[in-house]
Amino acid sequence: MNCPCCSGKSYEDCCKPYHTGEKNAPTAEALMRSRFSAFAIPNGEYLMQTTFPSKRQNHSKKDLQEWGEINEWTKLEIVSKPSMNKVEFKAFYTDENGKQQVHHELSQFKMIQNRWFYVTGEFLD
Ligand SMILES: [Zn+2]
Repeated sequence: MNCPCCSGKSYEDCCKPYHTGEKNAPTAEALMRSRFSAFAIPNGEYLMQTTFPSKRQNHSKKDLQEWGEINEWTKLEIVSKPSMNKVEFKAFYTDENGKQQVHHELSQFKMIQNRWFYVTGEFLD
């Protein structure tokens, strides 16, 4: 199958090794892409594991899993990478009412011990 992150690669050659823990995402963008794919699949466990440890209390695995499930994740567009630890993106999805939605966010990431984590995001219009 094509990777849900829209890289043009197969899932096996793209986000799957990150989801299985075989490899760590080498860049903030790769982590961001793998998290989008994890919503599409969905894989709530991976979404929790890639959230910065001190921020995990703000999220629940169940909610992440459900948010992945109820929406249909159609496209990911990387808008810009203003720095090594920031990625601006648009996530396109169809919600449970069949309505097209765009989630536009500037996300912040942080690396600890060679692993990237999602810290927080600013929602943009
Ligand atoms: Zn991918």
